[in-house]
Amino acid sequence: SNDYRVVVFGAGGVGKSSLVLRFVKGTFRESYIPTIEDTYRQVISCDKSICTLQITDTTGSHQFPAMQRLSISKGHAFILVYSVTSKQSLEELKPIFEQICQIKGDVENIPIMLVGNKIDETSGREVETGDGEAMSKRWKCAFMETSAKTNHNVKELFQELLNLEKRR
Ligand code: GDP
Ligand code: MG
Repeated sequence: SNDYRVVVFGAGGVGKSSLVLRFVKGTFRESYIPTIEDTYRQVISCDKSICTLQITDTTGSHQFPAMQRLSISKGHAFILVYSVTSKQSLEELKPIFEQICQIKGDVENIPIMLVGNKIDETSGREVETGDGEAMSKRWKCAFMETSAKTNHNVKELFQELLNLEKRR
């Protein structure tokens, strides 16, 4: 099937919902509205056909464990988001990555993108590009820095994730 399920994980406030809404609806808002769990569908072209991307925007690290396990089981690909303004938010991805490994087994064959968001906040940066890159090497996953606010690398993020899937 051409259905492709992407799950977005990360601590509260890093910009998961903002990245998804920027990609799906082209909008951005300054206010913080905590999410329960939402799924969005987006039809996109891949190769010469079309795919349906089903994007699940999770609540973050305070998600119910059972829901988190279920999201991982059902997911084909994962976006792990931290904010470059928070070292803590990168730390909080570690248990999520470990759980993906546990449930999926051979993660080298699962498309995973580590994403450092909020790069527009240049003065508040706590995580350097090299730190994110180093983590992605350790996890053998892809890496990208984004801004949902300025729309930097948002389309590219989802496109690249699909490219990873095709290369499997
Ligand atoms: P979530 O909890 O991970 O879903 O985070 P949200 O998407 O709700 O965003 C949390 C807050 O960060 C909101 O106030 C957003 O406006 C803000 N935000 C999200 N992405 C960016 C970004 O790329 N740059 C900046 N400056 N703020 C952002
Ligand atoms: Mg959210």
